[in-house]
Amino acid sequence: MDPLKALADAERKPYWLDEDPFEPEPLPRIFGHTHADLAIVGGGFSGLWTALLAKERDPGRDVVLLEGQRVGWAATGRNGGFCHASLTHGLGNGLERWPYEIADLHRLGVENFNAIEETIARYGIDCSFERTGELNVATEEWQLDGMNEVHTIGRELGADIEYLDRDQVRAEVNSPTYIAGVWERGDCAMIDPARLAWGLRQACLQLGVRIYEHSPIKHIVKDGPALRLTAPYGTVRANRVALGTGAFSPLLRRLRYYLAPVYDYALMTEPLTRDQLDSIGWKNRQGMGDSANQFHYYRLTDENSILWGGYDAVYYNGGRVKIDYNQRDATFLTLAEHFYQTFPQLEEVRFSHKWGGLIDTCSRFSAFFGTGYDSRLAYAVGYTGLGVAATRFGANVMLDLLDGLDTERTRLRMVREKPVPFPPEPVRSGVIQLTRWSLARADANGGRRNLWLRTLDRFGLGFDS
Ligand SMILES: Cc1cc2nc3c(=O)[nH]c(=O)nc-3n(C[C@H](O)[C@H](O)[C@H](O)COP(=O)(O)OP(=O)(O)OC[C@H]3O[C@@H](n4cnc5c(N)ncnc54)[C@H](O)[C@@H]3O)c2cc1C
Repeated sequence: MDPLKALADAERKPYWLDEDPFEPEPLPRIFGHTHADLAIVGGGFSGLWTALLAKERDPGRDVVLLEGQRVGWAATGRNGGFCHASLTHGLGNGLERWPYEIADLHRLGVENFNAIEETIARYGIDCSFERTGELNVATEEWQLDGMNEVHTIGRELGADIEYLDRDQVRAEVNSPTYIAGVWERGDCAMIDPARLAWGLRQACLQLGVRIYEHSPIKHIVKDGPALRLTAPYGTVRANRVALGTGAFSPLLRRLRYYLAPVYDYALMTEPLTRDQLDSIGWKNRQGMGDSANQFHYYRLTDENSILWGGYDAVYYNGGRVKIDYNQRDATFLTLAEHFYQTFPQLEEVRFSHKWGGLIDTCSRFSAFFGTGYDSRLAYAVGYTGLGVAATRFGANVMLDLLDGLDTERTRLRMVREKPVPFPPEPVRSGVIQLTRWSLARADANGGRRNLWLRTLDRFGLGFDS
């Protein structure tokens, strides 16, 4: 089908947030003045996990969560729903950056992932958690080396991981573009992210967390031994503050050097018929990803629609963030073309939804952590497109830091080290656009990395979604 035609009737909103009967009523905004032991800014996965874990650790702690819009409206309610155990944006990235720590990071990631599954069961959260694993495919020869390395290291770390040759991978999911695959069976689940966020919200409320929506915090100042957070119609005086503000303008100025707001886009198809599904196999319903620099990710939903996202990671010059940028027709068209190239059997399938969302990219592609205001405030940001599960780990790190605890988590180099900052604008825009251009060229030229990418590699720097 002509991709333009296939996209013509698609709703311009995230599939997960479109008239879902599970969507809760809004909570009130903050009016007047209140006190709290802990105030959390941000109602995405980061803030929600922090609130829940804070209460689970100490039910007597008075916890307030302040969200500028609605809980889960941002990246948290718009993502691919790959709940992956990795804390490091994949094993390959973790291995490159923290080779001596990777075994611990892998184990802690799996423990964190198992705890998410257990929490979902304990609070009865209906978010279609399916532990199907993730199948990464190679579509070009040059991708095989990286894939083999991940497979070898994964096995050494005890992961349930299997290498599939061309016939085996196509027997799992049938695309003429696949030449091999690595299936990480155990440590990844597909979820409905909005329903997970709403379920966590409900669990927080049950435990006594006070949640205010439509309450953007404008600034934070010292107030004696505490901190004062100011929203348009109210203030909170809190002994401790946790920031889970993702890619949005950070309340702690220094974080701006490390974070770049990047837009990532996705499509949803209409539900596949039985015959259409049979034509591609996919009986084991794995999350899928390819191995190019500009990669796609895709998965099935409950109703056998395919979410198809990735490829373009768009940085608007100057780091501009606008609600309009959640739509980008040029990217939707490219994504649709790639969808039909991957699954020519599905040429009759149309798209029901098209949307984008903001990612908090940093130069090491995985979250970083720290404190401010004499350790009265902690932050966890920089998840770079793999934060569905890792935000729970980040929440525990923030609570360890705020409680002054010396834990295995806080001793990790990955937790103690900061990423290399991005240069200031306008150099930043130039550097990021040059990197994007170079990555696209590498994909088009058999994976060959130009001088610019090789220089970045040497310094452990990069740009990703
Ligand atoms: C299209 C897309 C696909 C993705 N796919 C995946 C995937 O499949 N798997 C995966 O692991 N990750 C994925 N991600 C990334 C993942 O969604 C994020 O890493 C994760 O949701 C981050 O959660 P968060 O709470 O840190 O940020 P967010 O969800 O962005 O939440 C931050 C919240 O803070 C609020 N806020 C900000 N500033 C203030 C303020 N001053 N006052 C009050 N509130 C404030 C915002 O309103 C927002 O609700 C994807 C992201 C996108 C956009």
